[in-house]
Amino acid sequence: MLYSKSFASINREVPKDEMSVNGQLLIKGGFMERVTAGVYAYLPLGWRVYRKIEEIVRKEMLAIAAEEVYFSVLMPKDLWIKSGRWNSFGKILMKLTDENGNEYILGPTHEELAAELARRNIATYRDLPRAIFQIQDKFRDEEEINSGLIKTKEFIMKDLYSFHATQQDLDIFYEEMKKVYSNIFSQCGLKSYIVEAAGGNFTSENVHEFMVKSFGGDDTTVFCELCDFAQNKELKQVKENDRCPYCGGLLKEEKTIEVGNIFKLGTKFSEDAGAFFVDRDGEKKSIFMGCYGIGLSRLMGTIAEIYHDEKGLKWPTSIAPYPVYLIKMNDTDPRVDVRIKKFTDRLYNQLNDRGIEVFYDDRSEVGGGEKIIDADLSGIPYQVVVNAKTLQKDIVEIKSRNTGKTEFLKRSAVASYFKKMIQ
Ligand SMILES: [Zn+2]
Repeated sequence: MLYSKSFASINREVPKDEMSVNGQLLIKGGFMERVTAGVYAYLPLGWRVYRKIEEIVRKEMLAIAAEEVYFSVLMPKDLWIKSGRWNSFGKILMKLTDENGNEYILGPTHEELAAELARRNIATYRDLPRAIFQIQDKFRDEEEINSGLIKTKEFIMKDLYSFHATQQDLDIFYEEMKKVYSNIFSQCGLKSYIVEAAGGNFTSENVHEFMVKSFGGDDTTVFCELCDFAQNKELKQVKENDRCPYCGGLLKEEKTIEVGNIFKLGTKFSEDAGAFFVDRDGEKKSIFMGCYGIGLSRLMGTIAEIYHDEKGLKWPTSIAPYPVYLIKMNDTDPRVDVRIKKFTDRLYNQLNDRGIEVFYDDRSEVGGGEKIIDADLSGIPYQVVVNAKTLQKDIVEIKSRNTGKTEFLKRSAVASYFKKMIQ
């Protein structure tokens, strides 16, 4: 992509009341725009980051033989009355009424519809187990919306629903999902912790959250210093300086961000929806359900919250909008400048031909200092600089945004270098 042709610039003004670190970095870096409080629009660079995260998640879901679906965002009131959540979900449910007085919600999550679809599509034990997932915009009328992408009124979520004939089958799938989730977060550059939690009427053995340690976190988690035990403070079973219920180790509190959650729903939603199956013994039984969520937009905000320095973002290569940021330094001597441009254009084409995605700052009217500031803000992992000096030696300067390390390479060696570093 050529910077000169790009829709949005980098180094943008941040609204004064944008308080969160991730919100400031993502707006300033040209990744998103605030539409209104708690609502953001993704700009081209931001959407590329989002799509890379989405692809990591989708690949892992398909790998466990889940099928992708797309539910409706709008759901009729009836479904939510049946589950009791029309009222119990509270004020954050976004309700609306059409011209004829029919009431709907904008989906904040989709257990009701998943159970309803199971009722219509699953008849006997031969139809089980099954797993479906979707990636979709969800809506919650959150009041505290000053945390960038961490908490918004509109957000993008991956939600998976699993259907089983027995509790034991659900338990096995649930444990498998714990591994899949940890693997997804690690591919996004995050160390996640599996934390005991509670949600609605569900108890701690049936709910787990995936937490990432961060000063900007809106959750507090109690961690054991010695073993893997961790519990959301909201559960109130343990507190700081208590002893670990498993190993006796000392417990410490830390700020965390929840990046995913998994629930063993059991038969609650299937019974509300009337989702039954006929078992081998000919008996009619309730379907066991599990649900597994990852807030994808929140995940992007969390990564920004963690990967940055005073100059801007520092994306992990796996989710960077582009791995390479190519910079042509302009020269005051027009003859030299033409040669630098030719050299850089050629390098850009070579890298593209080798399948390496490059963001190329080809702007002719912008000074070198400004170009470097933009490159740093963008957080793109590798900066490749061409100027009069390097041109003379037929080399380029390559700087790692992550380590700050600089090296010089022959132009002919650049494509192979990135092939190795990126793939
Ligand atoms: Zn312990």
